[in-house]
Amino acid sequence: MSIPNDRPAATTSADVDVVVIGAGFGGLYAVHRFRSDGLSVRGFERAPDVGGTWYWNRYPGCRCDIESIYYSYSFSEELQQEWTWTHRYATQGEILRYLRYVADRFDLRKEFTFNTSVTSAVFDDEQVWTVSADNGEVFRARFVLMATGPLSTPIDPKIPGLADFAGVVARTSQWPDDLDLEGKRVGIIGTGSSGIQSAPVIAEQAAHLYVFQRTAQYSIPAWNRAYTEEEIARIKAEYPQMRRDAWETVGGIIYEQPDHDPLTASSEQREAWLEKAWQRGGYLMLASYPNVIFDERVNAIVGEFVKKKIRAKVHDPELKERLTPSYPFGAKRLCADTNYFETFNRDDVTLVDIKENPIDHVDAHGIVLQDGSRVDLDVIILAIGFHAFTGTLLKMEVRGRGGLTIQEKWANSTGNYLGFSIAGFPNLFMVNGPGSVGVLYNMVPASEQHVDFVADTIAYLDSHGLASIEPSEEAERNWCAHLLEIADQTIYPKANTWYMGDNVPGKPREFLAYAGGGPAYFAHFEKEASNGYPGFVLRKRG
Ligand code: NAP
Repeated sequence: MSIPNDRPAATTSADVDVVVIGAGFGGLYAVHRFRSDGLSVRGFERAPDVGGTWYWNRYPGCRCDIESIYYSYSFSEELQQEWTWTHRYATQGEILRYLRYVADRFDLRKEFTFNTSVTSAVFDDEQVWTVSADNGEVFRARFVLMATGPLSTPIDPKIPGLADFAGVVARTSQWPDDLDLEGKRVGIIGTGSSGIQSAPVIAEQAAHLYVFQRTAQYSIPAWNRAYTEEEIARIKAEYPQMRRDAWETVGGIIYEQPDHDPLTASSEQREAWLEKAWQRGGYLMLASYPNVIFDERVNAIVGEFVKKKIRAKVHDPELKERLTPSYPFGAKRLCADTNYFETFNRDDVTLVDIKENPIDHVDAHGIVLQDGSRVDLDVIILAIGFHAFTGTLLKMEVRGRGGLTIQEKWANSTGNYLGFSIAGFPNLFMVNGPGSVGVLYNMVPASEQHVDFVADTIAYLDSHGLASIEPSEEAERNWCAHLLEIADQTIYPKANTWYMGDNVPGKPREFLAYAGGGPAYFAHFEKEASNGYPGFVLRKRG
């Protein structure tokens, strides 16, 4: 829905209509959309420039694991036509250039204060949020949009002695621009997407690379390559239809469906199909069979196929087994790699199995393992992940109605409605928050959908003389029960993952995403909008 720019100003004591926190994909589009709707906006971003996760995660080998033509905005046909992706999977640098282009193209930077973190957001009796930032700026706003990203707060490593290390400690999520790995002894701790993408590239630079692995991972080759001119011309001609078709799919990406049931098909038929899926590569292996996440028998079929592929890549028989995962396929976020497993065939790369022999501590010269053996290093790279979904909000003082803090609200479980709103926190919205489909979907259209829904909701409130909206306790309770009900039908709870909150000590163990797929998820929003927001409490001004 588009609102003309001459909409009447709402009568409150607010300085702006909306404060947007974060200048990544969600926050940038939000500023554009809200401004186009005639709303006044103030944005805050802790980085010196736009980009969000793509600003910070600049480690060697960092690429998107969703194809560029999908992992990009759909809101502007002109933008789609102007921008040309060079590769099937864009590098971090290319995505950052794209977001900078978008910021320039739509003149978005002027609404943001950069190098500034929001420290608190407090809701008051006048139904206005007071938002304070660490540079001293304070804004009173009718609405707050947390476009802070589900993976934006790195976890604290808590490795004894790390501060004593005499070499360099770097994080994949805050990569130093001037780190030269040429000829160095480098250790990477962590084998999630960040470790798996960076290891093969770092191996090319380092004198010796040690990969400290706690859990072997499933990873599928990305088969990255440059797009041809013909492909780009075809994609640009078909973009609008392609976006519509992608929207209808479970994950927001178009892929071929199998023509057989894996449980009744012959092994030859299954093998041929899985080989095709493997050759297509990347995250889409998770879509090889529609019920791979729901049916353990199907999951085992796909998992065994991938394990066989992994073993075939690695020469050393003992290494083969150490690198082969042992949890259900896809239960941890599936990785897409370029030569990850092959890297372990190099003489200058060593796998250190820290499940068998955990890290005891770090000293000035390197990492000491529990059996007393040591690995001397010049650089330690932490690729150990994020306090996903909730970490960034929990770092702030966020107080809703009656002074309720977000820490109190989320102490035992992460109450949310539709993954974008929270009971007790009126007029505060999240982009791809806990309980959303976001991390199991294509994040860019998922961000656009949240922002559009929030913009349409604000327009609804304004046109009905309403001051605030928040989910009812009942709607929130039912939604959270629904999230867990779906998750319990899947293999997701069967591994230790950031999806479940397992990587942060003390975090409640619960599945924090919507596993029912995009179309079912978005239908909940349509139902709310077309029925006058039955799951929400709407309050009048004054
Ligand atoms: P991650 O998936 O959480 O992986 C963290 C790794 O560090 C795991 O191997 C974990 O082992 C290990 N680890 C954590 N704490 C440790 C400790 N104290 N000692 C030893 N090992 C430890 O983190 P990530 O690789 O940064 O990826 C996070 C998510 O970001 C991904 O799942 C993906 O959604 C997104 N991402 C996307 C891309 C992309 O699109 N290109 C790239 C990077 C990241 P355990 O498995 O045993 O816990």
